Amino acid sequence: MLKVPGFPDLPTPALRLDIDRDALIANWRALNDLSGAARAGAAVKANAYGLGARQVVPLLHEAGCRDFFVAHWREAAELADLADPASIAVLHGPLNDGDVAFAHASGVVPVLNSLAQAKRWAEAGGGRCHLMVDTGMNRLGVSLTELGNEAVQALDIDVLLSHLVSAEEETDLNARQCARWNEARGAVRHLRASLANSGGIALGPDYHGDLTRPGIALYGGVPRSEMAPLLRQVVRPQAAVLQVHEVPAGETVGYNATFVAPHAMRVGTIAIGYADGYLRCWSGKGVFHADGLHLPVLGRVSMDMTVIDLSAAPNIREGDWVTAEYALPDAAAVSGLSQYELLTMLGRRFGR
Ligand SMILES: *Cc1c(COP(=O)(O)O)cnc(C)c1O
Repeated sequence: MLKVPGFPDLPTPALRLDIDRDALIANWRALNDLSGAARAGAAVKANAYGLGARQVVPLLHEAGCRDFFVAHWREAAELADLADPASIAVLHGPLNDGDVAFAHASGVVPVLNSLAQAKRWAEAGGGRCHLMVDTGMNRLGVSLTELGNEAVQALDIDVLLSHLVSAEEETDLNARQCARWNEARGAVRHLRASLANSGGIALGPDYHGDLTRPGIALYGGVPRSEMAPLLRQVVRPQAAVLQVHEVPAGETVGYNATFVAPHAMRVGTIAIGYADGYLRCWSGKGVFHADGLHLPVLGRVSMDMTVIDLSAAPNIREGDWVTAEYALPDAAAVSGLSQYELLTMLGRRFGR
């Protein structure tokens, strides 16, 4: 990267994620309490669901979290200086000998997902690991019938985990997966057992085991409506106003002229677009706020910019900041995106 004399830092971003640290910590504590006798860990994969894992991990660690889950080995490497490597687990498991060597050298713990991974781990010397059992997802994990295999029986397993298919729904599948997970607990030696993701925590003590693995709910997502009173919004995307101008009656705004001004309007062009994860589904639907005022999106969202109606906010000027309406359950209902997509798509250009 170019080092410009006199500028030790990069230029200030014109869009940023306002992250409510107190709300993040309060959400982890609420989920830890709701986990009863079990302890809550944290899913921090995908850059902590887009929030910025290097910011999130120290806050959760401070709150008392001691188990962090990422998907990729690279994600673990990016966090291993922030928490005990033995507290970081890689859900994808070791795909090749390089991953196994990295685990052994760093102390990051693999989640073994198949007999092949169990053998690969054992042949390279083994050691403490986690084991994923498939109880119905049919995605990753050893099957119940494979648990008797000697490669599995010989493992030194810390967490025996499985993953719920539909924790946010009322379905018989939850109880069926819970029963299969209990069967697995009786079939293989392990130190701790874990089943529940965010939604699963609300299914009650049968689902808690020793460790729960919330992700979305930490970050303000609400997987089950009864959890809403416990959880606070954490993330608010904010963008700077690049330009303020007047649109005459009858003129159109943005690509493909989907908005026609019914009367002369004061509008603002803001520095956020679909390349930042503020997708075109927000065209004509999204709302921003400044000083409690309601500023609707006009016309199509572009790649790097969005135009908003400033009629209600005559005092907003270029350089001021506006905040997207982004409470996850509501934003999901309006946009048609999942609460997970709404977070994980937030792009690299945000200051975090
Ligand atoms: C992502 C993930 C979680 C967290 O799920 P949420 O629904 O976000 O709470 C937990 N466990 C596993 C195995 C995961 O992949």
